Amino acid sequence: MTAVSVNGDNTPSPNPFFAMPLTRKIIHVDMDAFFASIEQRDRPELHGLPVIVGGSPRSRGVVAACSYEARAFGIHSAMPSVRAHQMCPQAVFLAPRMARYQEVSRQIMALFRRYTTLVEPLSVDEAFLDVTTNLLGEPSATRIAQAIRATIRETTGLTASAGVSYNKFLAKIASGHNKPDGLTVIPPDRAQAFIAALPIGKLYGVGKVTEQKMRQQGIRTGADLLRFSRQELAALFGKSGLFFHDMARGIDCRPVESVRVRKSIGSETTLPKDILDFVRVSTVLFDQVQQVARILAHKKTGGRTLTLKVRYSDFTTITRSCTTPQGFFDAADIVAQLPRLLAATEAGRRPIRLLGITVANLCSEQEARRLRIRQLPLPFPQPRSRNALATTSPELPPHSQTKY
Ligand SMILES: [Mg+2]
Repeated sequence: MTAVSVNGDNTPSPNPFFAMPLTRKIIHVDMDAFFASIEQRDRPELHGLPVIVGGSPRSRGVVAACSYEARAFGIHSAMPSVRAHQMCPQAVFLAPRMARYQEVSRQIMALFRRYTTLVEPLSVDEAFLDVTTNLLGEPSATRIAQAIRATIRETTGLTASAGVSYNKFLAKIASGHNKPDGLTVIPPDRAQAFIAALPIGKLYGVGKVTEQKMRQQGIRTGADLLRFSRQELAALFGKSGLFFHDMARGIDCRPVESVRVRKSIGSETTLPKDILDFVRVSTVLFDQVQQVARILAHKKTGGRTLTLKVRYSDFTTITRSCTTPQGFFDAADIVAQLPRLLAATEAGRRPIRLLGITVANLCSEQEARRLRIRQLPLPFPQPRSRNALATTSPELPPHSQTKY
């Protein structure tokens, strides 16, 4: 029996292509220069002027948002305000009014919910909408996107750009394709050509560092990415590599999730001094278990996967995880499995600088209760003392239902 999986590499990677619905209709709506547009709307005298929302040019602050008039000067968000002022001395600098932006955001999100119940906000000014089945019974996602843009303009006086496609990443790329006040539709039969022509930096999840790394590999467009196998991209970019591989082929199975779910609950500690002593390692872990258990109880949730993270003094980092159908809901659940994970590390033999415990694959309260009931008759050990953690004894009862 394999005791533990390392970095989850025991999990077979599913072939997402077969799971991908090509018939989904997803819209990504993104407000144009949201903060700055609200300021220009609320103060008509700012119309047509370069408006910058963010830190004062006399501070160390940065640009949070800027109007298209300011963008014409090369100003963009996250740029130091001092620099923005140098580039455009006549720009109007305004302090952000977050409460005001939140108010407009709520108004817009409520508009989205007139069309579908599947709305996933990404931030204050953008959201994914799954309109495959929608509240209007309208078969055309393009017509819905047009209606949404018109409604936003009428009710808020602001403009939005929208992208329509059969998956999230294409819808998002589409919304940015024709900004501001634009609408781009990428139907399934045009996706491949669209991605092939796409500069690599425009791909979802490709930041500056990744882009640089891709360019070093000769990857400049979506078409270049197609030459690399899953294995090659995984070796180069880890988990993201697999996502890039699928994206190049227009595959993205992520559903639009109307409620943002927290994916894991964990506790991590960088130790003030490296620890070699096994008992001391156990003590730190015990505190973390209590902390994680408190959060789980507070959130009335549990998870199916427990992960132990260990960083040795030389910064080598390993993770050991196990997934049980019974799940982890309290300290006892975690403590019952932790010794096995800990035994698969070099704790006690190699100095450790960081320890962490995470419970992932979270399940709802209802689901948790169901699992809990199922768990009760199982002969699980319920260690009560700190010492239980230090035990790495192999004679724990057989966990016949436990998958590793
Ligand atoms: Mg925006």
